[in-house]
Amino acid sequence: MKLDVNVLRYLSKDDFRVLTAVEMGMRNHEIVPVELIDRIASLRHGGTYKVLKNLLKHKLLHHDASKYDGFRLTYLGYDFLAIKTMVNRGVFSSVGRQIGVGKESDIFEVANEDGTIMAMKLHRLGRTSFRAVKSKRDYLRHRSSFSWLYLSRLAALKEFAFMKALQEHGFPVPNAVDCNRHCVIMSLVQGYPFVQVKQLQNPDIVFEKIIGIVVRLAEHGLIHCDFNEFNIMIDDDENITIIDFPQMVSVSHRNAEMYFDRDVECIIKFFSKRFNLSFETNADDSDSDAESDTVKPRFSSIKKASGFLDKELSASGFSKKEQDDIEKFIEKKPGSDDEEEEEEEEEEEEEIEDDEDEDHDSSKLNASDIQKFDSLCSLTMDDDHEQPEAS
Ligand code: ADP
Ligand code: MG
Repeated sequence: MKLDVNVLRYLSKDDFRVLTAVEMGMRNHEIVPVELIDRIASLRHGGTYKVLKNLLKHKLLHHDASKYDGFRLTYLGYDFLAIKTMVNRGVFSSVGRQIGVGKESDIFEVANEDGTIMAMKLHRLGRTSFRAVKSKRDYLRHRSSFSWLYLSRLAALKEFAFMKALQEHGFPVPNAVDCNRHCVIMSLVQGYPFVQVKQLQNPDIVFEKIIGIVVRLAEHGLIHCDFNEFNIMIDDDENITIIDFPQMVSVSHRNAEMYFDRDVECIIKFFSKRFNLSFETNADDSDSDAESDTVKPRFSSIKKASGFLDKELSASGFSKKEQDDIEKFIEKKPGSDDEEEEEEEEEEEEEIEDDEDEDHDSSKLNASDIQKFDSLCSLTMDDDHEQPEAS
């Protein structure tokens, strides 16, 4: 996705006011009726309509008139809201090149006034798997905010909370700097994704380090769940940093052992293929862990602390309910051994838009919402002392 931040400079206060109004309307509407946007933004003299046109031109909004005249935020529109907020907070002042395209994120370099370069991860939960969201429609129907917007925000919040907690427990993770909406700012990892590394000086030591992290995570009550060569960074001195945390689960999860074994298996497979490390096990034989205790840790024999998630993470702003919400979605993620993965790829963009019985009763937005909106607006647009949302 292209992120032309130059547009940011040309957007006025009114532009952001209307953009924020659409965001607010999306709490109850997948497509926000124009009248509602106008009502929330309450610009003088029909100003909203002109602004909407401008936002549409810059692709910050998507227009949908199929059922009624309305708009929704695009990813870009949501990006701009988050970026603007962070810039106002003084977290960074410029956005640079894109350094990563994950399955469900875009990663850019950003720099602050001192020239410190950091990484900005924009979560795009649902980009590759709107079908998965759709398959949860029954659940969604009663919660229209359970959309890509909500999910991406949850993913960011969770990632931020986990990164912080893990860092505090001495795990090699990026430094969690800040979080807003679907956007996480963290320190830039020096090094490369492990998948790019063709040779190691000490493959055994690196392997031990990496497996050691999986074990130590479990001892802390956690499983990474996507622990592979794409989510491990390594530098020239063969130091390891772990990234990418939105899918982590507790060791008390009902599929914990399976997730744990999968993480371990991924690493073993990669090391045997890429670095010819030999293991006593045959990696493609699923119940081959019998004689291989020396290299392959067993879930059952790890002394696990429980409650890490509940205690520490809820303290850091990520509630049990949010954890449940995101888990419901992530379990269905393509790539997590689920059926029906390949079909309908091209539908993904469309499905954001189609929601059968979308409720567009504008009366849902009440006075206190409007009040919240006003403070949200001032937070997004012109404050200098904004209250942090997730730190
Ligand atoms: P996804 O959840 O979409 O897989 P990741 O967090 O794994 O996203 O990031 C995707 C890629 O972006 C990584 O493989 C890595 O190359 C790069 N990346 C992510 N975070 C950082 C960081 N803090 N520093 C440097 N590169 C990063
Ligand atoms: Mg990743």
